[in-house]
Amino acid sequence: MYKVMLYFAAGLVAAMLLLVSCRTSEKLFTQYLAVETPTARMGEIWVQFLGNTTLLFSDGETAILTDGFFTRPGMFQLLFGKIAPDSAEITRCLNKAGIGQLNAVVALHSHFDHAMDAPLVARFTGAKLIGSTSTANIGRGCNLPDSALLVPPLNQPLQIGNFKLTFIKNNHWPYPNARLRKQLLNNSINNPLIPPANMEDYKEGDTYTLLIDYDTLKMAVQGSAGFAKGALSGYRANLLFWGIGGLELMDDTYNNDYQHEVTDALNPDVIVPVHWDDITARLTDRPKTVNLLVSLLQGINPQKALKQVVKRNNKRKIITLPFWKPVPVHRLISGQKSNYTE
Ligand SMILES: [Zn+2]
Repeated sequence: MYKVMLYFAAGLVAAMLLLVSCRTSEKLFTQYLAVETPTARMGEIWVQFLGNTTLLFSDGETAILTDGFFTRPGMFQLLFGKIAPDSAEITRCLNKAGIGQLNAVVALHSHFDHAMDAPLVARFTGAKLIGSTSTANIGRGCNLPDSALLVPPLNQPLQIGNFKLTFIKNNHWPYPNARLRKQLLNNSINNPLIPPANMEDYKEGDTYTLLIDYDTLKMAVQGSAGFAKGALSGYRANLLFWGIGGLELMDDTYNNDYQHEVTDALNPDVIVPVHWDDITARLTDRPKTVNLLVSLLQGINPQKALKQVVKRNNKRKIITLPFWKPVPVHRLISGQKSNYTE
């Protein structure tokens, strides 16, 4: 009897492992912009997508990275273990992306998939770590000196080289799961956070919409699919990098409000969906959209989230970027047609 139970348990574990390793790759997200790798020209701004909400903006003189999340711990480690920045993986990704020096790494909020690696990225690239007081405590926990930390002012431009950054406090996506909502939202990291730590130790801190001005060009990065009423009124973006993760779990009222408070408020010509890939999968050339286990258990479905966006923005260009490749921003705005139609 004991043996049968043992075999049963082993079978169950094997089936779980199989499920986790079997990830779906949604066709919809492979319709991204096809680009040859262009040579970056001085004075021309380009953007490079490195998964989740990690985006490099550079003009060859000033370079700014949002989040810089590369470690991507696996699902079992997230649920049952502790997590920590993996310096070898961070170095591999920085090298592959061709990132040497950075002026700033900006954490859009302090959850692990945004801020966990940012202190190491800052150390390896000589960047300032910019983020909330919670992000600063993640930096301190990784032994970054206070001289490398900057908590930005709200609602007023901060000049970083050739870029002007404006931080607007906004709301995070409201986890439908009450336990996660309580653990991960409306709280902050009040002491240096020394890794390894539990996933839920990376508390939200302030969640920002980041506005990036470059000459006359206006861009916005919305890292999480949440909104606060009126937070973005009066602001404008030509190009919106739009966090869509979780929209598929929200009802029509929520999706309409998110559309109204973020996209309609900023009124962009072009939307680039971000936060749609599987954050538990190693960053490779081929993006994976979802972990099948998470999809089955929680109903996560980025394809459905993207459809929410497409159906509400049929007059705007929607372009998904490939991983790793630098794309001149002017190509997004003027050159490229939408990848998607309803
Ligand atoms: Zn988050």
